[in-house]
Amino acid sequence: MTDLTSKLGDTATLSLLYFATEAMARVSTPFWVFDIDNSRVVWANAPAIELWQADSLEELTARDMGADMSVGVRTRLSQYQEDFEANHDSFNELWTLYPNGTPRSVRVLFSGFRLEDGRMGMLCEARDENNETPESLRSAEALLHTSVMIAQYADDGTLLYSNPAARASHRNPNECLKDRFADQAEYETLANRLARHGECRMAARVQTTHGVRWHEITARECSDAVTGGKAYLLTESDISDLKETERRVRYLADHDVLTGLPNRNYVQNHLPHEILEAQTNNRSMAFMILDLDRFKSINDLLGHAAGDELLVKVGTRLKRLCGDDGLVARLGGDEFLICVYDADRMDRHRDLGEAILEAFREEIVIRAHKFAVTPSIGVSRLPNDGADLSTLLVNADLALYEAKQSGRNTSIVFSPALQRRHEEQLKLEADLQKAIENQEFEMFFQPRLETASGEIVGAEGLIRWRHPSRGLLEPREFIPVCEETGLINEIGVWVINQIGMEQKRLADDGHDIMLSLNLSPRQFSDPKLSNAIFELDRVTGCEPGKIELEITESMLMGDDDSVIQQLSAFRDKGFKIAIDDFGTGFCNLAYIQRYPITSLKIDRSFITNIEVNGAVTSLIMSLCHLIGVKAVAEGVETESQLAWLQSKNCDEYQGYLFSPPVPLDDFVNLLKGRKPAPDNLVFLDRAQA
Ligand code: C2E
Ligand code: CA
Ligand code: CA
Repeated sequence: MTDLTSKLGDTATLSLLYFATEAMARVSTPFWVFDIDNSRVVWANAPAIELWQADSLEELTARDMGADMSVGVRTRLSQYQEDFEANHDSFNELWTLYPNGTPRSVRVLFSGFRLEDGRMGMLCEARDENNETPESLRSAEALLHTSVMIAQYADDGTLLYSNPAARASHRNPNECLKDRFADQAEYETLANRLARHGECRMAARVQTTHGVRWHEITARECSDAVTGGKAYLLTESDISDLKETERRVRYLADHDVLTGLPNRNYVQNHLPHEILEAQTNNRSMAFMILDLDRFKSINDLLGHAAGDELLVKVGTRLKRLCGDDGLVARLGGDEFLICVYDADRMDRHRDLGEAILEAFREEIVIRAHKFAVTPSIGVSRLPNDGADLSTLLVNADLALYEAKQSGRNTSIVFSPALQRRHEEQLKLEADLQKAIENQEFEMFFQPRLETASGEIVGAEGLIRWRHPSRGLLEPREFIPVCEETGLINEIGVWVINQIGMEQKRLADDGHDIMLSLNLSPRQFSDPKLSNAIFELDRVTGCEPGKIELEITESMLMGDDDSVIQQLSAFRDKGFKIAIDDFGTGFCNLAYIQRYPITSLKIDRSFITNIEVNGAVTSLIMSLCHLIGVKAVAEGVETESQLAWLQSKNCDEYQGYLFSPPVPLDDFVNLLKGRKPAPDNLVFLDRAQA
């Protein structure tokens, strides 16, 4: 005691403190001052020395109380220290002291006490010795030490009691229950449930000394043990870590790791609600499926890492364009979904579609390479094009398919007509599968004549499909589908064999003419077809030199040496090779010289207006003569066209003027100088011409 006062300089304070401490020294209640920072008792009165079972004050103050202090107690003490600094509080708790290691339960009233050097210590007063049962002792002890926050609130939300864990979390002891909730809606839920059921269990975001945390709250109505008034007991535990893990798991489940965009899972889970909401509120929505054109070739060319980089950039670009009021998701691969809400202005998707196509005009740079990436977009709208997610997505997909078909880099909106076309296409595909088995295909032949003499020197074999219910179908109605589905390969083999057989038969009958057939680009890479070509003379007995393969310009573009090699192999075998529809592609004649070409078929479009703009056509024909290639005019329909061709020394021609494609028998009749029966003259393309 003298120790404590002697160091104080101020006499007034000194005398006051002297009387106070003198008084405390004499009372029978144990009092002691505890230095929290150093875990030491710095002063105690005689009853306290006795309580602590110490021989003297010196012996007691020399004890290191921190030696066997648990972490929980230590943190609680420093929490008290902060509380004292903040609000001069005093607390009344049941403590278990361990004088010389034996537990001793006492009720302690403690409050902040500034030590001589200004640090915050505490003054402890042991109240009446405990007379509580072991259970209540233990439960009180548990209440003190538990990390679960326990607090009691009065009916009006004011705090009545809080255990140390709750106190450590409360931002201020006067804060009412309502203000502790970060989200008032969550407080309302709690209040409502308590009012209705008297209890409630929920997770909520709560304002704490560590910021906003997720707490699991169990609340129960009770009555206050002191006043008997209605009160609420709340236990809370911090589940923020759990929530964070849960959030991560959920995020990963419905987001695409690469682009960070919502994924298909997210779309499946969230959009149905939004569709329902839009329907309830009579609002429209638009669903745009975007697919990158030829993404696969970039991937193949630069590798998957670069492909990934491209996808990320595309995602960012779309997100930027779409802004906050739309959803951009990655459905998988190079397919994205853009969902436009509230397309009340029904044209919003149209504007956005335009904006997207426009934005993609700017090249994307990846690893110092610039890429012109174009998208195709299919759009479906709520309510017009479907009432549920799956229908809307299927229809947007159909529109996308249409966009790809019509040359890519475009946006197409779904329509019922599109749906009908699609259904017809599916039907056609199914019918085509059977067509081969049922031998429904036929070859027609269009005579090719020498311009100068007017003699039939050959014929182009053109395929027809005798459809069981739709009648005779021309190639444009089924060849594109065959090319897409791969059926063209089977058909190609059938055609080549047919031509081989007919050539043999005609030759046997004394008709020394050339037969030609068409090969589409896709067929060119089919090994079965090239086998069939190489084996053709052996299988059918034909004369390869009397068969011409018609290929299109597009096959010659690019620096693919394998095309030259393959063509050369066919040439070596004796086959003739013609470039079909010349003038519609990008080939120039100088380029064509690299290939083993025998004929050049000038596209019908050049012949149609030959009298008006014949300059290019006549140039093509002169160049053909220069490089030793036969010039063949297609689609000759009038005498004046023929006269013009004759005047320019065009080698050969074919066209409706002499005959449309006809069945073999009719062609044979033509060879014999007989015109076919008028019924068999089917001018399939005339309407189009
Ligand atoms: P193509 O090779 O350009 O065939 C010429 C097309 O023009 C034929 O149409 C023919 O009927 C038509 N045509 C001939 N003369 C005239 C004329 O004076 N006026 C008009 N307006 N048209 C004329 P078709 O038979 O409908 O064939 C269309 C296309 O289908 C062919 O164009 C060819 O690219 C393709 N094709 C036909 N048969 C086969 C085949 O067996 N295999 C492959 N891969 N494609 C084929
Ligand atoms: Ca042709
Ligand atoms: Ca042609």
